[in-house]
Amino acid sequence: MITDRQGEIATALKQDINRSQYDTPLLELIGLENEISLAVSKLAQWDAPRPVEKSLLTISDQVYIQPEPLGVVLIIGAWNYPWALTLQPLVGAIAAGNAAVVKPSELSEYSASLLKALLPRYLDQELYPVVCGGVSETQELLRQRFDHIFYTGNSTVGKLVMEAAARHLTPVTLELGGKSPCYIDKDVDLRVACRRITWGKFVNCGQTCIAPDYILCEPSIQNRVVEGIRQTLLEFYGPDPKSSPDYGRIINQRHFNRVMALLDGYTAALGGQSDSSQRYIAPTVVKDVPPYARLMQEEIFGPLLPIVTISDVDDAIHFISEREKPLAIYVFSSNKKVIKRMLAETTSGGVTVNDVMMHYTLNSLPFGGVGQSGTGRYHGKHTFDQFSHHRACLVKSLGMERVNMPRPAWSVQ
Ligand code: NAD
Repeated sequence: MITDRQGEIATALKQDINRSQYDTPLLELIGLENEISLAVSKLAQWDAPRPVEKSLLTISDQVYIQPEPLGVVLIIGAWNYPWALTLQPLVGAIAAGNAAVVKPSELSEYSASLLKALLPRYLDQELYPVVCGGVSETQELLRQRFDHIFYTGNSTVGKLVMEAAARHLTPVTLELGGKSPCYIDKDVDLRVACRRITWGKFVNCGQTCIAPDYILCEPSIQNRVVEGIRQTLLEFYGPDPKSSPDYGRIINQRHFNRVMALLDGYTAALGGQSDSSQRYIAPTVVKDVPPYARLMQEEIFGPLLPIVTISDVDDAIHFISEREKPLAIYVFSSNKKVIKRMLAETTSGGVTVNDVMMHYTLNSLPFGGVGQSGTGRYHGKHTFDQFSHHRACLVKSLGMERVNMPRPAWSVQ
């Protein structure tokens, strides 16, 4: 389906979010194809009994972990990457032997209806039905009993999902969001850092769960960071991003208003323009943002990039650590000690050093949050494991027993 229907999928994404024709394969479909190929080639290995260490008492027994299907799972997807976020978990759910109900987000409506039309042509719809709809349909689904619920979206709804799951003691995976910081060390090559940050922040119009949410840097390099981003924006989107085929739009009016309200009272160092009729917000950078600003209180999930200045690496670590555990942290530095300290003294779902978002692309790494940014993990074998029960198996023989009692008369000789 992914290979056959690339054109239709790209058109749906264009209608939903003005996704560029280049970004669709790059951001969603190639990853999905890799995920499918990996599951097909590794399934026998993933599914095989996993022998574990034995004790003296079980030395001659079979001791292993057997992954088993959980049963029927529910996958609730989000709108920002509507194909990857519903189908990537589905690949692992199928590989692990489950049936799955797939609920795409209603906000990416073209993608949702295309998925509903296409999936039954490729998969058994009794086993993998697609249910479209909004809040009431999702709530109805959540009243049903499933063997696992895999939810991607914001943490407010994440709490509702967990509450509904608790009623049936159903385990959950919650792929949530939050504010992912990006620390730039003063000695780093700023041309490279700004290029990579600009791509990760403004691709999909900033609507990426692991996009760098804000920059932390020392005041001495702030203006050079702004200049580096300005030059990169010019290179990527030309002098007018609004007319660039590569620059996206905000998903709907509600989110447009929400993102614009975050900018209230601030003067943009770059960008700041908007057009509500097209749900266009220019790539925007705001300097010297105080930690108490509204921009710093919630996940931005749009093309606004605040810069918060800190005095040194200690201050940056302190700033990150006194906030909720983020989904991702980015560190740009050529100083090994700084990198080591950032890795050791902060925590997050994932981390990429000297780039942004790239840890997501490796299916050998588990992807997920920690604390408020989520619970559970997936990608590659991690998805298979997430949708499996790991059954503890001990198979003993009846031999090797010293029995002193006389055999009862009825026992087989
Ligand atoms: P959304 O509005 O599409 O909601 C996600 C799903 O929840 C949809 O299927 C929707 O139908 C359902 N839903 C919405 N309200 C509901 C309710 N009251 N009761 C039951 N179900 C309901 O997506 P969103 O939440 O706007 O997505 C953006 C958020 O998701 C951001 O916080 C982002 O960081 C996070 N996100 C995380 C990941 C990840 O992999 N960790 C990926 C993408 C997005």
